[in-house]
Amino acid sequence: MDTKMEWSRTRRDLFLKCPRAWYLRYGHPRPKNGINDVHSNRRPWDLMLRAMKEILVERLEDLREQKQWSPLLLEHQLKYSLQKHIKQNSRRIKKRYFEALLRYANHRFALLWRCRLIRQLERQKYPCWYVLDRTSSVRIGIRRIYASPDLAVLIQNKWHLVRFDMQIGPEKITDELEANAMVLWAKHQGGFPQSETSYRVHTIGWRKGFWHTSTFQPTQQSVKQCHTLLESDCKAMLEIHRYARANLALLPLASSKTSCDSCSFRVRCPGGENLQLAHNEQTLLELVHHSASSKT
Ligand code: SF4
Repeated sequence: MDTKMEWSRTRRDLFLKCPRAWYLRYGHPRPKNGINDVHSNRRPWDLMLRAMKEILVERLEDLREQKQWSPLLLEHQLKYSLQKHIKQNSRRIKKRYFEALLRYANHRFALLWRCRLIRQLERQKYPCWYVLDRTSSVRIGIRRIYASPDLAVLIQNKWHLVRFDMQIGPEKITDELEANAMVLWAKHQGGFPQSETSYRVHTIGWRKGFWHTSTFQPTQQSVKQCHTLLESDCKAMLEIHRYARANLALLPLASSKTSCDSCSFRVRCPGGENLQLAHNEQTLLELVHHSASSKT
C-alpha cells in the first residue's frame, strides 16, 4: 500500500478539507465494472474549472507555436470542452446555467490573458519556454508525486516554474512549501538543474475576482521542508486509508460546513445534510467501537 500513495496539491487540499471526501475520491477501491463513480459526480462549477484548465493548456501550446486565438475561437473551444465534461460526467444542466458558466470562464480567461507573464510570452520576450503536462508524475522514494508546473520558462539562466490554479482558497502559510513541490518534480524529472537556486516558482491563481501571482525563491532548506511536508501528508493519508478499511463510518468528516456545501459526495454522506449531527453520531459510534474492541 505504501508504494501506491500518491501526492498532488489537489489531493492535499481535499484531504485537509475532509479526509472522508478524500478517501471517497482517491482512496476508495474502483468498482469491478471499472467505472469510477467519483468521476460522475463532479459539480458543474468544477467541470467549468476543468474545461478552463484544458483550454488554457491548448491555448498556451498554440501560443508557443505563435498561433493567436480570436475571442470567437476561445468561446467555441470553451463551450466544446464544457459540453464534453458535462457529458462525460453524465450531468444535465439548464441552458441558462450552462451559458452563465461559459460567461464566467470567458471573463476569467480575458483577465488571465492580461497577466504580465502571458503578455511577455505573447510578445515572444523569452525564446525558451515549455508547456508541461500536469498529469506527468515523478517517483520520489516510494511516493508518486504529481507536481508538474504548467509552464517552465528560462529567464536569465533561471528556470521559472509556473502553476495556474483556476480557483484558489485563502492564502495559507504552507503555500510556499506546496509551490516548492514543482522544484522537487523538476529535480526528479531529468533535464532540469539540480540546484534549488536555479529556479523561481510562481503560482497564478484566481481568488475573489482577480488573478493573484505569488513568487518564491526556493532554497535547499525550503525544498527539503517541502519534501518533509509531502512525506507527512502521505503518511496521514495512509493512516486514513487503514482507518477506512477498518470502518468507513468512522472516517473523519469535514470540520467546516462550507466544505460540505460544495462537496460532490454530500447526497450520500451524513455530513451533507447536517454536519454537526453527523459529528455527534460519529462520536457515539466511536465510543461503541472502542468499547467493543477493548472487550475483545
Ligand atoms: S459532505 Fe462534508 S463530511 Fe461528507 S464527504 Fe463531503 S465534505 Fe466530507
